[in-house]
Amino acid sequence: MIIAIDGLAGSGKSSTAKIIASKIGFNYFSTGKMYRAITYYCIEHNLVESLPGSLIKCIDNLKINFKDDNLNRVLINDKDYNEHIYCKEVNSYVSIVSSIKKVRVLMVKLQRNIAKDYNIVCEGRDIGTVVFPSADYKFFFRADIKSRVNRRYAEIKSKNNLITKKKLKSMILNRDYKDMNRKFSPLKKAQDAILVVTTNMTMDEQVNFIINKIDLKK
Ligand code: C5P
Repeated sequence: MIIAIDGLAGSGKSSTAKIIASKIGFNYFSTGKMYRAITYYCIEHNLVESLPGSLIKCIDNLKINFKDDNLNRVLINDKDYNEHIYCKEVNSYVSIVSSIKKVRVLMVKLQRNIAKDYNIVCEGRDIGTVVFPSADYKFFFRADIKSRVNRRYAEIKSKNNLITKKKLKSMILNRDYKDMNRKFSPLKKAQDAILVVTTNMTMDEQVNFIINKIDLKK
């Protein structure tokens, strides 16, 4: 079974998807981690200044897989990128890397392949529209910018990372804008996805809202 959750940055998709997956015994699958890992690879190999050409040239030679079948530990050429994928540089470049058609085609192929073997709660930007248009359940998360900034700020602060709310707001809006306006697989709600406005919802409410819609015996 595939439960798809798409939505805006900071709308609560990841935390909600993670809790739901553990409650119902599914695998949590963050597709954002794949785009983040390949972005970090570009930073590390000095490819970012000459995107997209620099990446297109070498992408067919990259070996991308998951560590010990853990869908949330992406390996590129056998290197585990998990440690680095939430850094500031990745946040700045990931929307550029993820707008490249060849990157998307490869990621979608890998995502569809992995889903054959698991029941998943899969979150991202194009899961209900492109990756799994026939997903058993589809949800789209939205929240106002203030609550999204507050959510992310709390996460970042707990990791002792210094950033102002103003800067965070501009980074989130910038990423959303690029994700929603790219040519290939832009972020949008699938017509048949259930809209979840999380602005005033607690985590428990978000989790219960989704769990109440799911019939695991289907
Ligand atoms: O979900 P997360 O914030 O980790 O995603 C990081 C970025 O990866 C997004 O802003 C977007 O550019 C890209 N992404 C995507 N398609 C997905 C998942 C993530 O383009 N399915």
